[in-house]
Amino acid sequence: TDAIQTADALPENPEAVAPERDLMSKFDGLIAERQALLDSGVTDPFAIVMDQVKSPTEAVIQGRDTILLGTYNYMGMTFDPDVIQAGKDALDQFGSGTNGSRMLNGTFRDHVEVEEALREFYGTTGAIVFSTGYMANLGMISTLAGKGEYVILDADSHASIYDGCKQGNAEIVRFRHNDIADLDKRLGRLPKDAGKLVVLEGVYSMLGDVAPLKEMVAVAKRHGAMVLSDEAHSMGFFGPNGRGVYEAQGCEGDVDFIVGTFSKSVGTVGGFCVSNHPKFEAIRLACRAYIFTASLPPSVVATAAASIRKLRFAHNKRQHLWENARTLHGGLKQMGFKLGTETPDSAIIAVILEDQEQAVAMWQVLLDGGLYVNMARPPATPAGTYLLRCSLCAEHSSDQVERILRMFRVAGQSVGAIS
Ligand code: PMP
Repeated sequence: TDAIQTADALPENPEAVAPERDLMSKFDGLIAERQALLDSGVTDPFAIVMDQVKSPTEAVIQGRDTILLGTYNYMGMTFDPDVIQAGKDALDQFGSGTNGSRMLNGTFRDHVEVEEALREFYGTTGAIVFSTGYMANLGMISTLAGKGEYVILDADSHASIYDGCKQGNAEIVRFRHNDIADLDKRLGRLPKDAGKLVVLEGVYSMLGDVAPLKEMVAVAKRHGAMVLSDEAHSMGFFGPNGRGVYEAQGCEGDVDFIVGTFSKSVGTVGGFCVSNHPKFEAIRLACRAYIFTASLPPSVVATAAASIRKLRFAHNKRQHLWENARTLHGGLKQMGFKLGTETPDSAIIAVILEDQEQAVAMWQVLLDGGLYVNMARPPATPAGTYLLRCSLCAEHSSDQVERILRMFRVAGQSVGAIS
């Protein structure tokens, strides 16, 4: 069989694979850039492996106990005993997977349960669960806005929002990041009678800045546009019920669709959209990203339902998360780091560095000292912006936050980012 496998193996010479044109050659620049980074002797920041995960805030990476400050586990639900038990029970009762689309055989008890939990959490009449948050944006945006209609989006929108625009047939209009006047101007140029969807995010994940949703939603409504807000990075700890920035800013009545994810505060994987629109259920009949893919495994939706039901009442956790954000932001600012926001506006605190070299060097010093943060660079960030992105967890103890600050001081001094 070895001989057969060898004979059938793909030829290594690209000319022989595709003599007319090697489609892979467009990646040569990327490959070279990555190789240059690795040749400088650093650990690859985009190939970290968690050998063991001990809690929402601690893992073993490269044999070392490491504090996690670069996950979206904002509310620390991944090790909640009730959440884990719900997943185990569902595995036992329903098996490991659904083997099908929500539309056919892929709707089990807990898919219905988690949608009920979402309706309760958000106080909406409708909730639809997708396989990821990426697919929720992809599906909702491409399905809502069609030919002859318009999607108006913030220039710094998440990739899933951009991809939702590409997948649909609507006209796409961008406005400057968080710029109310620019949104107003661009909406004013569009035909009055055309359908329009303004897509916003509560928290922008690269710098951790918050949208002026109240003002933007008011502008959108004045121009007769519907509004979708992606609240991926705010669920659980913005607003009195943890619904998001739109709740915190008091514009609940005017946001037509909320998109969210289970991959952050909820602590598992999945995406959703909730709405009070009376015809919302029709999305299930028309949305390709909902129909043409398998539904989430029963254990995943069961953990999500258990987590969402607890998040509703997680007032102490919320409070502690904000306390952590204030302490870390204040401490880093005092040391002289350049941060993504002037004030602790969200659970994301971005430390802005001069260039890729400095960012990677500092990232490595932190990792070697037992702290993991996200290295973020273009295209995820705006052009020329290199960040060490910290995301806090409600389960970080005050002692851990103090240790984190000490590690930042040492690392920042060692690469010359602070004096
Ligand atoms: N929207 C935003 C703003 C995000 O940051 C992300 C993921 N980082 C998503 C959507 C996609 O979520 P998911 O991980 O569930 O695909």
